[in-house]
Amino acid sequence: MPMEAGTLPRICAIAAAATLLLGACEAFEGKPEEPVVPADAAGQNAPLPLVETMAPVQPATLSLAPGAERAPEAVVQESGNAIRQADSDSSAAPDPDRPGSDDSWHCAGQSVEGRDIAYAEYGEGEQVILILASIHGNEPAGTPLTEALIERLEGGPAWLAGRRVLVVPRANPDGLAKRRRLNAHGVDLNRNFPSDNWDSTRRHGHEPLSEPESRAIADLIQAAKVTRILSIHQPVGLLDYDGPAEGLAEAMGAAGPLRVQRLGARPGSLGSWAGLDRGIPIVTVELPGRAANIPRHELWGTYGEMLIAGVSH
Ligand SMILES: [Zn+2]
Repeated sequence: MPMEAGTLPRICAIAAAATLLLGACEAFEGKPEEPVVPADAAGQNAPLPLVETMAPVQPATLSLAPGAERAPEAVVQESGNAIRQADSDSSAAPDPDRPGSDDSWHCAGQSVEGRDIAYAEYGEGEQVILILASIHGNEPAGTPLTEALIERLEGGPAWLAGRRVLVVPRANPDGLAKRRRLNAHGVDLNRNFPSDNWDSTRRHGHEPLSEPESRAIADLIQAAKVTRILSIHQPVGLLDYDGPAEGLAEAMGAAGPLRVQRLGARPGSLGSWAGLDRGIPIVTVELPGRAANIPRHELWGTYGEMLIAGVSH
């Protein structure tokens, strides 16, 4: 549904609800970005046709990049010198493909470069389920997949009953815009959470929660009293979990093509902090690398039932 000019800006709902000083979301018509270009499964930067963009908060589009959540740190290529600025159609019009109704969208905070960290919220209930995508900006397939989920949630499906679902399609919007794993400070957001196993390196941030994106996510988890987390990455092609999430992971595995395999908790990861330290069941969905090249409706066709199982379990 297109965003109408004049209805914005809106105040961060989470701040209003929880008196967190997260600031006001900027007007959604700002901050043009680059067009979406999918990264290919081999991690090359070859130009590819534009795909659906579905920018939830901007007229924007994204460019995507290669890389691997679970690859050894030394192997993950930080592409700061090789970022290809995708061609821009420079359209300032709101994205007509933005999923969900305007009333469903809220703002958890803003990125280093001022992009909104937006989430769509549906339903009510004791179970509060947070679904994150693209906390690593070079693992983009979760963004269109979660936007397809938002389209289904908008219809009030039966599997939403008794549940409150928060969906963040772009947890690292600056990285996503530049095809980078890291945020604009060069920090891996999924190593910046205040877990017991956090360790200090430049890429992990100068301290836990040093980054506005990780703070926004952590604040949202605490303010909303999240009871379950699904975080979507690429390119390993499996379901990992941390905390008391074995049954959840197995249910998701039974509903889709990915199998459960534990990979171990990384320092400062969301799995370490939320799953191990706080006991919140968290499943890390590792989509395969080729998922970056799959249109949204096909992503949903392949992985939609798995996500529904993750909500309804
Ligand atoms: Zn990742």
